[in-house]
Amino acid sequence: MNKTKIIATIGPASSDKSVLRKMFSAGLNVARINFSHSNHEEAKEIYNWIQELNVEEGRNVAVLGDLQGPKLRIGIVKADQVLKKGDKITITTDECEGDVSKVYITYPEFPKDVAVGDKIMLDDGKLILKAESSNNKNEVKAKVIQGGPLKSKKGVNLPNTKISLPCLTPKDLADLECALELGIEWIGLSFVRSVNDIKELKNIIDSNNSPAKIVAKIEKPEAIQEIDAIINETDAIMVARGDLGVEVPMERVPALQKMITRKCIKYSTPVIIATQMMESMMESLSPSRADVNDVANAVHDRVDAVMLSGETSVGTYPVQVIRAMSKVVKNQESHNNHEMEEFLPIEKKNDRYISDTICFNACKMAEQVNAKAVMTMTHSGYNAYKISSFRPPSQICIFTNNRKIMNTLSLLWGVRGYYYDEFVSTDHTMSDIKNIIKEKGIVKDGDMVVNIASMPITDKGMTNMLRLSRI
Ligand code: PEP
Repeated sequence: MNKTKIIATIGPASSDKSVLRKMFSAGLNVARINFSHSNHEEAKEIYNWIQELNVEEGRNVAVLGDLQGPKLRIGIVKADQVLKKGDKITITTDECEGDVSKVYITYPEFPKDVAVGDKIMLDDGKLILKAESSNNKNEVKAKVIQGGPLKSKKGVNLPNTKISLPCLTPKDLADLECALELGIEWIGLSFVRSVNDIKELKNIIDSNNSPAKIVAKIEKPEAIQEIDAIINETDAIMVARGDLGVEVPMERVPALQKMITRKCIKYSTPVIIATQMMESMMESLSPSRADVNDVANAVHDRVDAVMLSGETSVGTYPVQVIRAMSKVVKNQESHNNHEMEEFLPIEKKNDRYISDTICFNACKMAEQVNAKAVMTMTHSGYNAYKISSFRPPSQICIFTNNRKIMNTLSLLWGVRGYYYDEFVSTDHTMSDIKNIIKEKGIVKDGDMVVNIASMPITDKGMTNMLRLSRI
C-alpha cells in the first residue's frame, strides 16, 4: 500500500483493456488521457475501460484529462533539413512546406507578439533561434544560435515573449466538453500563465454542474511568478518538467520542483511530478540509476504523485515500468521521514476553522499513540485533502457514498477510499467502518484508530468530532 500515487499516460502502447488490467495490478492510481494525442473516440474508450476495471477489480482509479493548451508548433518540413549556427531563417504565419530558409508557425499573432532579441526554442529546446526583426504582419527573421536537425511539427517555446493566445483554445474547449460529458475526474490545464486561467476554467466546469477538479500545469515562467496565488486557487499542481525545462533554464528545474512541492504541501494542494521520471525504461526492462534516484527524490519530498508519460503511452514496457516505479516508491517510503507536516495557523474567521483543527489534531493524536489509521466519512472530499496534507504516519481511510469523489481522491498522498452509504447514527457508522478496514486487513484486534466525524451524522455537516479507540 504505497502512499505516493502513480499516474500513467494511456496511449497506443496501453490502449487495451487487458494491458490496463495489468497496469491496475502493477500499482496504477490515475490514468491520464492526453488530449494532445488522443481523440474523443479514443478518450471515451479509455474512460469506459477504466470504469469497467474499477468495478471488476474493486478499485477507484481516477482519470486525468490533460488539455493541450496554447502549444505552439512549426509546420511540415522537407526531409533532412539541418540548421547550422549563424544561419538565418524566416518564420512565417503563412502555411508552407518548410526548409532551412523558411518555416511555418501555428501562431498567427507571433510577428506582433515577438520582440527583437526574444529567444525562439524548437524541439524541446534542442534548437535555439533569436528574433532579429519582424514585419509585424506575417514574418519574423531569426538567427540560429544553436543548430541541429529541423523536423516537422516540433514544439515551439518562447520563454521571453508575452503570448497573447488564450489559455483555452477552441480545441481545448471541445476536448473539455468531451471530458466533462464523460465524467472525467481531473482536468489538466496546460501552460497556465495566471491565476485567472484557473478561474476561467473553474467557471466553465461550474456552469456545467460538473464536480471535475483542476490540475494546473506549471511550465511557464509567468506561472512561477504567481505561484502562491495559483496553488491557492487550483485543486492540484503538476510540475510539468518537460516544457518547464525549456521555458526556464533546465538547471533551475530541480530547485523549482522542491519549492513548489513545499508550498503545495503547506497549502494542502496535491502536487504531481511529471516527465522523464523513468524515461530509460522506454525500451529497456531496467531503469537507469539516475531515474530510480529521481523517483526516490520525489517520494522523499512526499509529493502526492509521480507521473509516467511516454513510458506507458508509447514505450515498450507499460506494465513493467509501473511495477518498477512502484518498487522504488515502496522502498523509499520505508526510509522516509515519518514526521508530520506543520499546521499552518488558521484564522478563527475561516469557515473551516473547526474541521481544519480537528483534522490536524486527529493526525497528531494518531502520531502520538501510533494509531494504525485515521478514518473519516466525507461528502465533499475536503477532509481527505486536509488530512493527507499533514502526511500522517498512519493509514488514511476515507469513506464516502460518492464513487466520483472516491476516484478523485485516488490522486492524494496516502488516501484510501471506501464506499459506504449508511447514515443511521455516528456510533453505527464508526463501528461499521472499523469492521470494514479490519476485514480489508488494514488493522487488526488491539490496534488504535482515530475517527473523525460530523455530529449529528445525518446532517452531513462539517467535521466537529474526534474519537480515539481500539479495534
Ligand atoms: C510537460 O511538459 O512536462 C508535460 C507534462 O506536458 P505535456 O506532456 O502535455 O507536454
